[in-house]
Amino acid sequence: MLSNKKIPYGKQSISWWDIWEVVKTLRSNNLTQGPKIKEFEDALCAYTGAKYAVALSNGTAALHLATLALDIKEGDEGITTPITFIASANSMLYAGGSITFADIEKSTANIDPKEIKKKIGPRTKVLIPVHFAGQSCDMEAIAQIAKEHNLFVIEDAAHAIGSHYKDTMVGSCRYSDMTIFSFHPVKTMTTGEGGAITTNNKELYEKLLTLRTIGVTRDPARLTQNDGPWFYQMHDLGFNYRMTDMQAALGISQLRRLDSFAQRRREIVESYRAAFANDERFALLEEKDFSYAAFHLCPLLINFNVVKTSKPELFEKLKTRGLYLQVHYIPVHTQPYYKKLGFNDGDYPVAEQYYRSTLSLPLYPLLKDREVKDIIQIIKDVVR
Ligand SMILES: *Cc1c(COP(=O)(O)O)cnc(C)c1O
Repeated sequence: MLSNKKIPYGKQSISWWDIWEVVKTLRSNNLTQGPKIKEFEDALCAYTGAKYAVALSNGTAALHLATLALDIKEGDEGITTPITFIASANSMLYAGGSITFADIEKSTANIDPKEIKKKIGPRTKVLIPVHFAGQSCDMEAIAQIAKEHNLFVIEDAAHAIGSHYKDTMVGSCRYSDMTIFSFHPVKTMTTGEGGAITTNNKELYEKLLTLRTIGVTRDPARLTQNDGPWFYQMHDLGFNYRMTDMQAALGISQLRRLDSFAQRRREIVESYRAAFANDERFALLEEKDFSYAAFHLCPLLINFNVVKTSKPELFEKLKTRGLYLQVHYIPVHTQPYYKKLGFNDGDYPVAEQYYRSTLSLPLYPLLKDREVKDIIQIIKDVVR
């Protein structure tokens, strides 16, 4: 079985071709601010269908710049889901705004458009839906709400590069102002650390480029004075959120492999779905008809009403069998920092019930069928 091998919930797949692309870049003239950045951004545009892409140092930086580019400031509020990585919510706070949450749909664990409507107030400026586990939110419904209330939409697609929604790729921004991605090694494709924003809005694109490089511009069209060819000006308070050329080279190479990653991830999810169906102890999230998800996560929902083992005991037992799993996510509003802002246990009951029942099954392209079978057997043995 798996006893002498540690199986995590996710990990990267790096080919010799990926390595070669990084090595070639290391031997080139530009380790950063070179040609690979634009090449990666163009590849992201071609893949997602968006007009513009900005490569960044990580997904959290992408969320930060997205709220800054929308001029979010004190008094502006965003709405996101409690079942997400904390950075989705933090993004509004970084820009000086505030955040509130809308509860999730039980069947998908995605933000519930009906709950969004209840949370909209006079200060609401932006909706930040998260495509949880890789499955797109119902973007048509969300875009409709945004239109009615004159709100911006930032899609947090850190889980969903390679996923489709209806006839669009996630990241096309057909239903949003911007989409953010993360390329951390546990995500569906990686650049080590890394992130990106896609958009169809030229003005936002140009703001993002400036904010990525400390707020400095050399564009003659934007300079209010020009002393000569060396001249630059700082127009905004930006950051150094650049990606390196080595990372971009890895990204270009990984992007070529993304469809095969997605296919393998879906195959593994199908095996889990078949194995855990028709067993009252277990359930998986549903996939909607509008979705073709490049699944980042495969959450297994355990019915602790019919199981004797507690969740902490279960985690310990799984570790002794080589399974090092994780929970996605602890609801953001229950974090001490967010409780200080006024949120409380019990505020989002569907999300909290989801948290109590979920754990994330191992899901990555390098998992072998044999290992998937063993994982299923171990979980069925241990969940008693
Ligand atoms: C990973 C993740 C991020 C942040 O990405 P980093 O690259 O780790 O900064 C943001 N949102 C969600 C939903 C994520 O899963």
